[in-house]
Amino acid sequence: MGKYKVSLIQGDGIGPELTNSARRILEYLNDNTLAKFDIIEIEAGDDAFIKYGQALPEFSFDAIKKSDVCLKGPVGERAADVILVLRRFFDLYANVRPAKSYPKIKSISPDVDLVTVRENTEDVYLGWEFNADSDTVVTLRIISEKACRRIAEYAFKAAIIRNGKKRVVSVHKANVLRKSDGLFRNICREVSKKYPGIEYSELYVDAAAMNLIRNPEDFDIIVTTNLFGDILSDEAAQVVGGLGMGPAANIGEQFSLFEPVHGAAFDIAGKNIANPSSMLLSIKMMLEWLSDKFNDVNLYIQGKNIENAIISLLKKDQKTKDIGGRLSTVEFTNLVLEELSRY
Ligand code: ATP
Repeated sequence: MGKYKVSLIQGDGIGPELTNSARRILEYLNDNTLAKFDIIEIEAGDDAFIKYGQALPEFSFDAIKKSDVCLKGPVGERAADVILVLRRFFDLYANVRPAKSYPKIKSISPDVDLVTVRENTEDVYLGWEFNADSDTVVTLRIISEKACRRIAEYAFKAAIIRNGKKRVVSVHKANVLRKSDGLFRNICREVSKKYPGIEYSELYVDAAAMNLIRNPEDFDIIVTTNLFGDILSDEAAQVVGGLGMGPAANIGEQFSLFEPVHGAAFDIAGKNIANPSSMLLSIKMMLEWLSDKFNDVNLYIQGKNIENAIISLLKKDQKTKDIGGRLSTVEFTNLVLEELSRY
């Protein structure tokens, strides 16, 4: 296999600390395994905006287009100018966020292993808002059959591939949003018929929010529209102990982007205390996607090794501050590298 071109956006706030960990892991893989990467540093975010007047300058955009995949640290004030542009350009239609209970991390249940599959291209996030009169604002909620079908197909395929409970629940509010969420629910129902091996159910979003706290271990794949997915996936991250453990993928047909679920966390930036796991688990997801796309099973194994290294450290209570430990970002990364060297 050749070298995979990874465009790396450092990001703002804790972004540089997290991407520093990520870079060290990718360099370790380069030097010690058959997985080879060209890391292409991309200027984008708040600093790029100050320097060039654009959060995603043309030359950065071009460099990302030439790469195989993008790994992104969290961007601060200018987040929307970067991620929304990339999502739109590459048509990254599925936002995939796993939430899993890891050892020795406070979680509502020790057996949570779920994935939120959130439609990523429409809904109120298209930002079609206008003033109807001086007193009233209107926001349009866009839901198309094509997008519903594509995200439903993605969710069912993910349920098949995943070593999970083989369940898909579609989450909506079709009793109130009869047309838009009615369409989403109907398409999910229709698609479910193609996958008899997967148990299909439906939940109203309010019930889903409640059950995520009451019985989070019952969920496998949650498929939902953009706004509900945004909210539920943050809730799910918290159910299993916080944002520091949360990776995310933005998946398209040809290109994908991987990033932590959280933002730039300016309150802890520069202190060497951020948990790099969200970023390292994003690398794991990236390696799985590359493995699938380029039929390179070694990448899948390397991704699994990264997660196993983190699990092994957690079992020994070696943790960062956000999850009840004392290790710094750099110390935790050093230990991950040490674990990896044993595999
Ligand atoms: P945004 O609005 O972009 O989501 P935010 O500042 O509201 O960003 P986040 O940055 O997502 O929120 O994070 C909320 C809090 O969670 C942070 O202030 C920080 O204390 C904590 N946090 C987030 N990520 C991490 C991490 N990787 N390690 C440790 N703590 C984190």
